[in-house]
Amino acid sequence: MRLLPDRIFELDDVSTDVARELVDRVFHQTFNIIIGVSVFSVLGVFGIIVTGSLWYAAGVAAVIAAGTWRLWLFSRYRRARSSATPVVWARRSLWASSAMACVWGAWGIAAVFETHENLVVLIVCVQGATVLFSAVHNATLRVIAVVQACLTLVPVFLMLMLSDDWTYRLYGVFIIPFFANVLSYNTFLHRQTLRLLRADREKAELLVRLEAAKQELEVINRHLETLAAMDALTGVANRRAFDLTSAREWLRAARESVPMSLLLLDIDHFKAFNDFYGHQAGDACLRTVAAMAASVIRRPADMLARYGGEEFAVILPGIGLDDAVRIAEQIRTVIDRRHIPHDASEIGHVTVSIGAACLVPRADSEVGILTARADAALYAAKRCGRNRVIAPEAIEPEAAGAFLPGRTGILMPAPQQR
Ligand code: GH3
Ligand code: MG
Ligand code: MG
Repeated sequence: MRLLPDRIFELDDVSTDVARELVDRVFHQTFNIIIGVSVFSVLGVFGIIVTGSLWYAAGVAAVIAAGTWRLWLFSRYRRARSSATPVVWARRSLWASSAMACVWGAWGIAAVFETHENLVVLIVCVQGATVLFSAVHNATLRVIAVVQACLTLVPVFLMLMLSDDWTYRLYGVFIIPFFANVLSYNTFLHRQTLRLLRADREKAELLVRLEAAKQELEVINRHLETLAAMDALTGVANRRAFDLTSAREWLRAARESVPMSLLLLDIDHFKAFNDFYGHQAGDACLRTVAAMAASVIRRPADMLARYGGEEFAVILPGIGLDDAVRIAEQIRTVIDRRHIPHDASEIGHVTVSIGAACLVPRADSEVGILTARADAALYAAKRCGRNRVIAPEAIEPEAAGAFLPGRTGILMPAPQQR
């Protein structure tokens, strides 16, 4: 059975982390111990000189032995802190501190036996200072401070009170309020430290939770951003994303004086498709057309977007007209060859018409002129019989607010009808 119950260390109702920190502080007093031992050693030498008693030499030896025990314990703690629980370390520290306090208490008794008043005053003052420092430095483990104060001051108090000399008894009386004050200060410090440690822990936990919430929010935001830029039916970029990207790419092309191409794609006779197969089949067709077109777009800079209804747009930054028309033709072909049945159309399957336009933007122009040209080309493709790619440069080579890059005047031949 243990001599001292665990609960005297007041570590039961705190978490293991906080308990560790409380004990940790008690084991960081190397400097204080060295100062304490030095002061008592000097006092011992003074005692030997003024009284001629060798008891003080024994006292100094005892103080050094007790101090060494504590220092050894500190170094063991530093090396193997996790080898024992906080309570076990607290218990070890209490024993070593008590040994030291017993030695100091014995000094007080010895001092009263000597009739050298200055020495008594000096020793009582140093003991008082020691108790005060102990109350501060052991505030996290209150029992150590209390036991040290009792073992140091009670013997000298009793000796002083039992003395015949009234001045000695007066010193003894002074010890009472000092003792009470030290203990109440120690309690105050203990509570404050505990509160601060708990607040620190809570803050750290809150910060961790906050960081997790922030990361979660970032993921949600990214998801929302994607959703906000995505067309729900086809999964490609929506009109909003198209507007933002086309305007941005237009400005970049103007800055770098490079061409920018745009394709506008429209499903042929789609109203008839809807009327014939129903809206759900129409939706499925839109999805297939989007997927087919997306399979042709390979560069990360290019963007396929649903422009509206059964119309799609492809932004091709830095691409000249020849390449843009070639990509448009690839898209047209891949959809044509897919042979999505369309019995309400002459050709018998779903086809698309594409208008392609390309400009090197001027700094003061807007992307609208490129869209208008692509739209005009798309209109021309419809007029010319559908299922084809047309570039407006074939019809009108000059554009307001921009000049035309490279080759102009491309008109794709109409594919064979069924
Ligand atoms: P054209 O060859 O001249 O393009 O003829 P069209 O019938 O394709 O053109 P029109 O503009 O007359 O009809 C477009 C149709 O597209 C009308 C509309 O019902 C259909 N549509 C637009 N958005 C959707 C959609 O989200 N789902 C479905 N199923 N149909 C849509
Ligand atoms: Mg249309
Ligand atoms: Mg159409």
